[in-house]
Amino acid sequence: MFNALVVEKDEASGETAASVRQLAPEDLPEGEVTVAVEYSTLNYKDGLCLGSGGGLVRRYPHVPGIDFAGTVEASDDDRYAPGDKVVLTGWRVGEAYWGGYAQKARVKADWLVPLPDGLDTRSAMAVGTAGFTAMLAVMALEDHGLVPGKGPVLVTGAAGGVGSVATAILAHLGYEVAAVTGRPEQEGYLRELGAARIVAREELAETVKRPLESETWAGCVDAVGGAMLARVLGQMIYGGSVAAVGLAGGAQLPATVIPFLLRGVNLLGIDSVMQPFDNRLRAWRRVARDLPMDRLKAMIRPAVLGDLPALGADILKGQVKGRVVVDVNG
Ligand code: NDP
Repeated sequence: MFNALVVEKDEASGETAASVRQLAPEDLPEGEVTVAVEYSTLNYKDGLCLGSGGGLVRRYPHVPGIDFAGTVEASDDDRYAPGDKVVLTGWRVGEAYWGGYAQKARVKADWLVPLPDGLDTRSAMAVGTAGFTAMLAVMALEDHGLVPGKGPVLVTGAAGGVGSVATAILAHLGYEVAAVTGRPEQEGYLRELGAARIVAREELAETVKRPLESETWAGCVDAVGGAMLARVLGQMIYGGSVAAVGLAGGAQLPATVIPFLLRGVNLLGIDSVMQPFDNRLRAWRRVARDLPMDRLKAMIRPAVLGDLPALGADILKGQVKGRVVVDVNG
């Protein structure tokens, strides 16, 4: 038997409830690789799946957890053998399929990535989906010509998971990072991660009539979307790029096309869920190289399975700082 955080739904009322339960190995779904999970984490999507499901969960009972790291216990696939350390993000694991909030998981071999040298399972989950996505965003900006010295790089939703990791990576790579936050009390934390400048959320929270403002940012990792993304597009330098990662502030984009037409601004979409294997491997190797471990440690908030229902509600309210790392054996 093993412990898992199980979400159940009362079909009559539609209410969901999450609790730690004991499951048997036979309860696990089909898959080629069984993993002894060591750590999982908390992302915005987990907040949805721990509660009403947000339209992401297909059937109940459900085990959430959109990412995990652990050790292979059994494998029917040649690529993995017992004892291998692995990490998983995306592929709708923890949403449509059972995820990492359990001491065991059974998944497709195609969904796994071997843990890169330089990361252990705990630090891999301190990075997690949020940090992996932040790395994809930085890689996309670089692929579109961003280099240190072109100008400051903006990170929105900076005290959150994606924003914290993006700030630390960009600062380590030599960029001047301007961190947007709605939580002024997190200024010390963001400066510790390497932010050179703090921008108050109110300064960018609303759109303005002018489609172009002064050219300020050479790049942007945007976790917020909505009016903030629209506003930032009009502040990019000529040829600058914005990596659109999230929608913490809204899914609408109340923008004009003027920044694209007159300043050659690039809006780059970032998806972490369906990334091909080669790019995943490249991103995880870059994380191991470009994310300083002392800064990663500063982002960690430890948790156990029983903490997750409350933490899930917190992340939906934008109240979680940095990265929650869940010790499933704790
Ligand atoms: P977090 O909740 O940790 O971070 C989001 C941050 O956004 C908050 O900490 C807060 O930062 C800011 N924020 C929250 N609400 C608002 C608001 N109303 N207006 C402006 N800013 C706000 O979530 P994650 O970092 O895990 O995820 C961030 C976003 O990225 C989510 O929308 C998530 O769904 C998305 N995402 C997308 C992925 C992809 O593949 N494209 C993968 C992973 C995440 P502060 O307090 O500093 O202002």
